Amino acid sequence: MNTFEVVIGLEIHAQLQTKTKAFCFVPAIFGDKENTQVGPVSGGLPGALPVLNKEAVHLAIRAGLALGCQINEKSVFSRKNYFYPDLPKGYQISQFDEPLCGIGQIEVEVEGSKKTIGIQRIHMEEDAGKSMHLAATSLVNLNRSGTPLVEIVSQPDIRNAAEAVAYLKKIHAILVFAGVSDGNMEEGNFRCDVNLSVRPLGQKEFGTRTEIKNLNSFRFIEKAIEFESARQIATVSSGGKVIQETRGWDSAAGKTFSQRTKEEAHDYRYFPDPDLPPLLLTPEFIEQIRSEMPELPDAKRERFEKEYSLNSSNAELLTASKDVAAYFEECVAAGATPKAAASWVLSELLREIKEVEGADIAQSPISPQQIAELIALIEKGTISGKIAKTVFAEMFVSRKSPKQIVEEKGLVQVLDEAAIQAWIQQVITENPSIVAEYKAGKEKVFAFLVGQVMKLSKGKANPAVLGDKLKAALKGT
Ligand code: ADP
Ligand code: MG
Repeated sequence: MNTFEVVIGLEIHAQLQTKTKAFCFVPAIFGDKENTQVGPVSGGLPGALPVLNKEAVHLAIRAGLALGCQINEKSVFSRKNYFYPDLPKGYQISQFDEPLCGIGQIEVEVEGSKKTIGIQRIHMEEDAGKSMHLAATSLVNLNRSGTPLVEIVSQPDIRNAAEAVAYLKKIHAILVFAGVSDGNMEEGNFRCDVNLSVRPLGQKEFGTRTEIKNLNSFRFIEKAIEFESARQIATVSSGGKVIQETRGWDSAAGKTFSQRTKEEAHDYRYFPDPDLPPLLLTPEFIEQIRSEMPELPDAKRERFEKEYSLNSSNAELLTASKDVAAYFEECVAAGATPKAAASWVLSELLREIKEVEGADIAQSPISPQQIAELIALIEKGTISGKIAKTVFAEMFVSRKSPKQIVEEKGLVQVLDEAAIQAWIQQVITENPSIVAEYKAGKEKVFAFLVGQVMKLSKGKANPAVLGDKLKAALKGT
């Protein structure tokens, strides 16, 4: 197996988060009732003229800048001609030989080592509609027709599934942080074609590639790459030839399958769209967009480490998602100490959200202000860390504020030394043999005695006071 090298290039299609379609005034809302979001241009009515959406241009440039690409001051929209029922015009408006963005690159980390992956180009295009094939009929839904996309084409720099997934996740995060795309993969707003070939190790020329179309989950992409690499290596090893073709991914079978032999660019009869003038940008316009760039994941992670003194792993986890990062910063803004907020968000909150709610953090039933309030109760000594976990679980169920829960359930930590002293006396009296063991030097049993006192206090004794008092009491016996 290891006498072959796998070569991969990815084409990512990301839907731009615009209010309306790329060349038509109709709202870009895919999820509505079928065929309700269709206008003269996106429905392909003869004679309807396209008008370029400025917001789409803005977001596409932002994507290019965020991915370190050069932005071309002149780019051209071309017609890519093909016939398919979900393409009513008979052509897709895309860009061909003069795309909006030229080369760029991003750095990814795979198993601890860094790797740079080149980007060939980014161009703007419109999406097609969606076909649904039922048993006896096929249906077409044009709601998606004409929504604006960027296609991001990588250099063939990727060598395995892990690198491909790291590259995709990084670009996904950058586009979402930049506000370019919502990145929703289930709805197909971020999807990927995998171009893959194999060659004997040491050979300079690339082998013949296949293209696996329309993968919309990181897991499927990984599986498809693993399957296709093994398939091509087996083919070549047994003296066969890889056929240049387009393949699909059958997720149920875990296999790629042949769809059609691959078309060449000239089959599409690309030509500049006569209805759209070249897109000309001024350097000032591009600089304006650069100056409005939201904070990107790497910058945010570095800032979190510095500004909040977080360790790199917590900073990384908190900035893996835009919503989680925003939530954390709201906790801090509400007065929470950053380290405590990081730990409550990362361990308790995210776990509960996954287990109980099945929702994402943006819909969290617990607000950042409530997390800050809970942390303040611990830090003031009103409740112990242990009780705080009970309060936290209760917050999820009752949606009440931590203060209210602590008051209603009488969970205020006991600092009263006389009360703690009384529980200690009771434990010492009831456990003479263990006390004897402790006095004989078996210090491990101390934790057990602490536990017994805690139990009597129903978890409410202040741990620091308890520890001090118990030590003193044991000395005195
Ligand atoms: P097309 O438009 O026909 O899909 P491109 O030249 O735009 O062709 O290439 C598409 C993708 O395929 C790019 O990401 C590129 O890096 C990748 N690619 C090109 N040749 C190979 C190859 N032999 N093996 C693997 N990937 C390749
Ligand atoms: Mg392609």
